[in-house]
Amino acid sequence: MGACGNLPPELAEKVLADGDADFVAFGRPLTADPEIGRKLREGRPADVRPSTRCNQLCTGNAFFGKALGCAVNPEVGFEGTRKIERADKPKQIAIIGAGPAGLEAARVAALRGHTVEVFDKNRYLGGVLWPAATPVFKRAVLPAASVRNLENPPLALVPVSTIGEALQALFER
Ligand code: SF4
Repeated sequence: MGACGNLPPELAEKVLADGDADFVAFGRPLTADPEIGRKLREGRPADVRPSTRCNQLCTGNAFFGKALGCAVNPEVGFEGTRKIERADKPKQIAIIGAGPAGLEAARVAALRGHTVEVFDKNRYLGGVLWPAATPVFKRAVLPAASVRNLENPPLALVPVSTIGEALQALFER
């Protein structure tokens, strides 16, 4: 059995394939995404929400005697109360900014059945996650599922130059 700091799924697969261990275990990756096993088994690695190795609310909380939480999974520790449920009346949602906060809001809104458009001046997703991922050991923040997978749940990215341009596009409809 092998365990190490935040084992990436592809490395776990290699360890098993090479016969270096009979069993691998996920710790923080399982906290960040409890569905990681099912998603990998179904061939959907792009949907896995990775742990960013921040240690803020998991081991960090443990040091202060607080309950388990997670910086990228707001449902951890609140499984009985924070369920994402379908909205009674689906709406059209416009979100300005494809950074981590905007994308998380978009993801939850889409899972609730709303039609979501994300406006951003960049033609890529992630916003400040890119400079945040400059240190090699922080590269794990980039492949976050909400950053690289627009298909599940489906989101539309609308490139704009300014917030004003995004608002104009909305008001002209
Ligand atoms: S709090 Fe940070 S380190 Fe802990 S599981 Fe969540 S993302 Fe990973």
